[in-house]
Amino acid sequence: MLLLNPGPVTLSERVRQSLLQPDLCHRESEFFDLQDEARARLLDIYGLDPAEWAAVLMTGSGTAAVESMIAALVPEQGKLLIVQNGVYGERITQIATQYRIAHEVVAHDWMQAPDLARIAAALDADRAITHVAVIHHETTTGRLNDLQALDALCRARDVRLLVDGVSSFGAEAIDFGGSIAAVAATANKCLHGVPGASFVMVRRSALEQAASRTYYLDLGRLARLQDQRNTPFTPSVHAYYALVEALRELEEEGGWRARHARYAALAERARAGLEALGMPALWPSDQSSVVLRAYRLPAGLSYPQLHDGLKARGFVIYAGQGGLSAELFRISTMGNIKMDDIERLLQGFKALTQ
Ligand SMILES: *Cc1c(COP(=O)(O)O)cnc(C)c1O
Repeated sequence: MLLLNPGPVTLSERVRQSLLQPDLCHRESEFFDLQDEARARLLDIYGLDPAEWAAVLMTGSGTAAVESMIAALVPEQGKLLIVQNGVYGERITQIATQYRIAHEVVAHDWMQAPDLARIAAALDADRAITHVAVIHHETTTGRLNDLQALDALCRARDVRLLVDGVSSFGAEAIDFGGSIAAVAATANKCLHGVPGASFVMVRRSALEQAASRTYYLDLGRLARLQDQRNTPFTPSVHAYYALVEALRELEEEGGWRARHARYAALAERARAGLEALGMPALWPSDQSSVVLRAYRLPAGLSYPQLHDGLKARGFVIYAGQGGLSAELFRISTMGNIKMDDIERLLQGFKALTQ
């Protein structure tokens, strides 16, 4: 079965085999070697300087890393502005509410790109805002939000940017040079590891002012202990094995740029093929990520019919979220997916729609 959902992904055989390495006690040096390698390799993906940045690992899915980032990096006296144009932006608002973090929301329809004029006005109207949170790739619709434009707004106002990069890290461009204080992401999306390990790439200067609102996901403590080759709790050792192997594979394949190019070729082939079959992509390619794209359901075929028909042919596709499920479906090109697989997928679509 090939997974075309946005994580967990279809594993390469090499990453799958890496799960079968020796049992490890997480208090032994072998585990800390593994943890150190994962942290160093995560920094290397975007060429980050370990003196300025830390990769902080945790056991949990992508949401754990997002929650850890938000709970720690808005200081006690800080205020967060959340840019919301999909399910994952809404999730950050729920996290901020849960931790009673002072926040404002610039809410958009799920179909809209972030409205930069409204965001600028919101920042100018409330100088108490210290941080902006945004989803880089809003997986709800496949839209790639314009990180550079938001970064410029933040930079001009000395506000820090907190990025949910869960479905973009490792495959899309991220400029760490500007106002970004942290990016949260996970092992089992564009990095091609297994679920269970997630992480926050954080500026060390931001950690110095970190709040401690949560116990298990306390980013400051996790960073401190990991810097000392330590860990507060039992990590998902096997997920770390897989993450390290996946990061070695990513490097050998040419890093994030090569992964971007590979995904782009697969996504463009899928887009052209589906359009020819009467299922246009929701966005033009320049507004889409290369990671996942949303398509209009064909006339006369429901999502369950399409899903079940493709599953019988060996492919798992993904429904539209919430109210979009009657109009859209989604195809992700993350994981060990090859051009041949996309060709076979298109043949499956053709058989089901004609
Ligand atoms: C997948 C995803 C998450 C986290 O989901 P988990 O199920 O917790 O791994 C968060 N943000 C975005 C943008 C995602 O695509």
